[in-house]
Parts: sequence; structure tokens; C-alpha cells
Amino acid sequence: MRLRNVRGAREEMLVNPHVIQEPKSFRGRMNEVFGNEKPIRIEVGMGKGQFITAMAAENPAVNYIGIEKYSSVLIRAIEKQEELQLSNLKFIRMDAEEITEVFGEAEVDRIYLNFSDPWPKDRHAKRRLTSSVFLGRYSQILKKDGIVEFKTDNEALFDFSVESVLESGWNLELVTRDLHHSPYAEGNIMTEYEIKFSSMGNPIYKLVASQKEGSR
Ligand code: SAM
Repeated sequence: MRLRNVRGAREEMLVNPHVIQEPKSFRGRMNEVFGNEKPIRIEVGMGKGQFITAMAAENPAVNYIGIEKYSSVLIRAIEKQEELQLSNLKFIRMDAEEITEVFGEAEVDRIYLNFSDPWPKDRHAKRRLTSSVFLGRYSQILKKDGIVEFKTDNEALFDFSVESVLESGWNLELVTRDLHHSPYAEGNIMTEYEIKFSSMGNPIYKLVASQKEGSR
């Protein structure tokens, strides 16, 4: 993603009501942010937030939290949310490496990973959001029957992710190497990157992973 220094973005993060301030202080009681007990679903690396905003608008019975490392990108999601004022959508500016410090045990119902950075060099494999290191973190914060949904157009990252899921003792509930021409296309909400890459003719890969009984 091309990063620009958006003037004032970092300052806006510190005061904007749609951004969860001091998220670590809500660990284990994140539902208080929303003031209800609806399930919490998160997107890690949400970029400008097109996907999670559409999900929140379509599913008012679910609370959504979009996580993004860069203020300059997150500010675009905030601008949209300023217009829509969805009560079930919040954002956190953070590095996903800290995810277990922000969410408590079994606090999250579902994790979405969309078009995550591929980190192609072997020595950076642990930074991939589907690495066993990250799956171990997700395991701590996901409910027992929680799932991870991952979409990408990057075949190498997808192959790595399938292997990583299986090696980590998770189940593959769904695997498709051409989402848009599969039975799972119905109801699929496209992300910004998905629109861009599928319009170039790239197939979209998707997997859904769950944890095996007793693997936690
Ligand atoms: N999910 C969006 C989509 O599909 O259109 C954006 C995809 S973009 C390639 C990946 C995004 O993940 C970037 O905005 C990047 O800043 C963010 N990101 C990458 N690593 C991250 C991390 N460790 N923690 C939080 N955000 C991260």
C-alpha cells in the first residue's frame, strides 16, 4: 500500500470518538465500548475500511472493530464512519502484534484477514498475519467455535497460509482458489484490494479456518 503522510491523521486518532482510545484498558471487557453484549468481529489490517464498514451496515446484530497500523490509512475509514455513524463499528490504531494485549481470552467471535501484506522474504514469514505465530495469538482471543476468514489474490501467501493453518492444528472449513466463480461468491463483500485485483483478472483465494476441539 502506498503510504502518504495525511496531515493531522495521527492527531485525529487521539480524539476521534470512533477510535477506541487506550484499547488495552478494555481488555476482557471490550463489549463496554459498545454498551451491549453482541458478538465482536474484527478485521486485522483493514486498510481504508470498505469491507468492515459494509459488514457493519449489513449486520447490526454484530459489533465490528477494524484494526489498522497506519493513521494515514485509518483516517479514510473514519471519514466514512463520520458520515454513516454506525453504532456497531469502532476502530483501533495498533500493530496486530499486540492483539493479545488488547483482546482477552475468547473475546472475539470472528477474525477477518483481507489481502494481508505478503512479506515475501522467508526471514519475514513470522510477520505474515496467517503465520503460526499469529494463529497462536488468534487462538488466545477467539471463542472456542470462532473462525478466521482469509482472502487474498497472492497464491504463494495462500499456499503458505493453508500449510500454516494445518500445521497449527486448526481445521480448514473452506478452501477455494477462485472465490468469485465458486458457490461461496454469493453474499461475498468485496474489499478495496479485492475490487482492484479481481478487475485485473486475478483469481481470489479464500480459506476459513476453525480450531479443532481440544487444540487450545
Ligand atoms: N484489508 C484491506 C483490503 O483488503 O482492501 C487492505 C489491504 S492492505 C494490502 C493491508 C493493510 O494491512 C494495510 O493497510 C496495512 O497497513 C495493514 N497492516 C499490515 N500489517 C499490519 C499489522 N501488523 N497490524 C495492523 N495493520 C497491518
